Amino acid sequence: SVAYFNGTFVDSNDPVVPIDERGHQFGDGVYELIRIYNSKPFMLEEHLDRLYMSAKAIALPFDQERESFKEIIFQLIERSGLDNLDVYMQITRGMAPRNHLFPDAPVSISMTAKPFRSIPPELREKGAKAILHPDERWMNCYIKSLNLLPNILAKQEAHKAGCLEAILHRDGKLTEGTSTNVYVIKDSRIQTTPLSRHILAGITRMAVQKIAMEAAIPFEEKHVDIEELYEADEVFITSTTNEVMPIVQVGDKLIGDGQPGPMTRLLQRHFQELTTTTVSA
Ligand code: PMP
Repeated sequence: SVAYFNGTFVDSNDPVVPIDERGHQFGDGVYELIRIYNSKPFMLEEHLDRLYMSAKAIALPFDQERESFKEIIFQLIERSGLDNLDVYMQITRGMAPRNHLFPDAPVSISMTAKPFRSIPPELREKGAKAILHPDERWMNCYIKSLNLLPNILAKQEAHKAGCLEAILHRDGKLTEGTSTNVYVIKDSRIQTTPLSRHILAGITRMAVQKIAMEAAIPFEEKHVDIEELYEADEVFITSTTNEVMPIVQVGDKLIGDGQPGPMTRLLQRHFQELTTTTVSA
């Protein structure tokens, strides 16, 4: 599949990244994953806002003008020959002999274009399972940093347990999933972790909040504890790749009657409408 590295379009298997590259050696960079539905990038501006914010938060000198950066994305989409795809992009602190101190080097920009990461459709229909896992990450999870080791380890634990996701908790309260935001529904109210340094401000979360507002469903940002998770009427997670995914079992406890609930269904439907109708800049 097609990819981009520092000014050139390449094949994603081409060996273009040198050993002394800080994304490779330190995970010293930030990233985004943007989904393109029917050739239209979904919530592109929001993703780019977050990318520039993340870069700034780690003092990455990513000063590429936004329009020319978007031009690269559009060219990559075009070259992919795909209508529905995931565009992954990362910006790192560039190439320099390995040394913790910031190098005097230009940032590296890489991107890939791939067909949708497939999530089994029956999970979206019947709901998925999750485990609980302690949140062992750092204090700046609002940054979409390349450093994902705690997320990877927790997700692998979930996978070993036959589950899709690990729901993380800190001080007895849910934070988010390893690559998703998490929500409970109680008495027809959506409740989700308030934005803070402890979670990523999901773009899909933003979409769900908007859908809830338009459908006059209360959307409450509040700390949810583990008991409240178990006693929820419905639970779901969201992300760019998972969209709105019902969670019907956490550990060995069924949520509600173990079926996706009506509000999660409604949100799934409305989200799908957004992805099929939104025209992005
Ligand atoms: N939290 C974490 C830790 C993530 O990695 C992701 C996926 N990027 C999300 C939440 C969901 O964010 P989004 O809806 O923007 O994909």
